[in-house]
Amino acid sequence: MSPGPQVIVAGAGALGLSAALALADAGCSVSVWDPTESPSASAVAAGMLAPAFEAALDAETAGDLDLLLAARNLWPGLAARTGIGIDRSGTVAAGSPAWLSEVRARLMRLGLRGPDLPRGLLEDLAPGVAPGLQALLVREDWRLEPGPALSALRREAEAAGVEFRGEAVRERTDADWLVIATGAAHGLAEVAPELSRLSPIKGQILRFSDVRGGRMSLRGEGAYAVPGRDGLAVGATMEPGLCDTRIDRAALEPLVRAAGVLLPGLAGATFGVSAGVRAATPDGLPMVGLSRTAGVILAVGARRNGWLLAPLAAKLVTACVTGRDPGPYAARLDPARFASGGTGKTAR
Ligand SMILES: Cc1cc2nc3c(=O)[nH]c(=O)nc-3n(C[C@H](O)[C@H](O)[C@H](O)COP(=O)(O)OP(=O)(O)OC[C@H]3O[C@@H](n4cnc5c(N)ncnc54)[C@H](O)[C@@H]3O)c2cc1C
Repeated sequence: MSPGPQVIVAGAGALGLSAALALADAGCSVSVWDPTESPSASAVAAGMLAPAFEAALDAETAGDLDLLLAARNLWPGLAARTGIGIDRSGTVAAGSPAWLSEVRARLMRLGLRGPDLPRGLLEDLAPGVAPGLQALLVREDWRLEPGPALSALRREAEAAGVEFRGEAVRERTDADWLVIATGAAHGLAEVAPELSRLSPIKGQILRFSDVRGGRMSLRGEGAYAVPGRDGLAVGATMEPGLCDTRIDRAALEPLVRAAGVLLPGLAGATFGVSAGVRAATPDGLPMVGLSRTAGVILAVGARRNGWLLAPLAAKLVTACVTGRDPGPYAARLDPARFASGGTGKTAR
């Protein structure tokens, strides 16, 4: 039997590891290179797999519910393959009556249902929500724990024969394929000029290790709260143009205020802060597919949905290498949509 194509994956974040595992499962000989132990964005993320609220609340992905849902629907298969735990119980939105009615209207425009939650049930699912706030429940949005998910992806990739090297990729190399999954980094822009279209968005996230939170993720006005094994994660700032991971208390103030409005019990509680850098394209969707450089595949620019989109990106990367049908979303994520300086919007 002839050996499969040799693939080097640059980057061991959610996108790189998911792609490496899918490529190994497809018979490729894969090595993943990454100089850092803990990938910037993937490790600090909240882990929400949130097609509904991302389409309803974020203007950048308002028209992409179908794609986000398709990505989420690939998660049960990846979870079964890797042992990653997925909480599918749903997400609660809680806020002022005016805000909640706007959220409800946006969900309805997307064809999604968000039944109201009576106060008693809200207290049970998300204890501590401020009195006077109203709430609704969306079943479409799930979540995972990023730290254990990264470990599980790496463990399963190693078991599938993927090799890991603790160094940066600096050039095209002589492997059959190079997959660039380097997050917000521009280091390989000479190899793949498309990387110059990425811009950074710094994100800071609070972790209240002494607060357990409820059973469900919460979305509020200007803040979300996600219960997890390390306590309650409250996020996140969106700081376009910044690519450092310095903790900036001043930039955190609006988030801390919004968290206090949602969960007044957080006032005065101690929290730690971590920061990561998201990579964004001009249209808010990632670039996944062939670069104009021969033999190079991109899987970058997942902005605030890299965990959600990781299995879809892995599927498309694998299709580039194997020639399999990439499915209906390849054109929307094709890096070529930004050729000649385009914004990509017309490709949707
Ligand atoms: C605060 C915050 C909260 C978030 N919450 C969510 C959420 O709830 N749900 C969700 O879906 N998404 C969330 N995101 C977004 C998500 O984390 C990212 O979209 C995703 O992690 C990006 O993964 P990645 O693999 O592309 O990049 P990264 O995780 O940044 O990994 C890129 C890796 O490439 C490596 N690298 C760089 N250059 C090279 C090179 N030359 N050679 C080799 N390796 C290299 C880096 O060391 C890094 O480890 C959040 C992000 C932030 C910052």
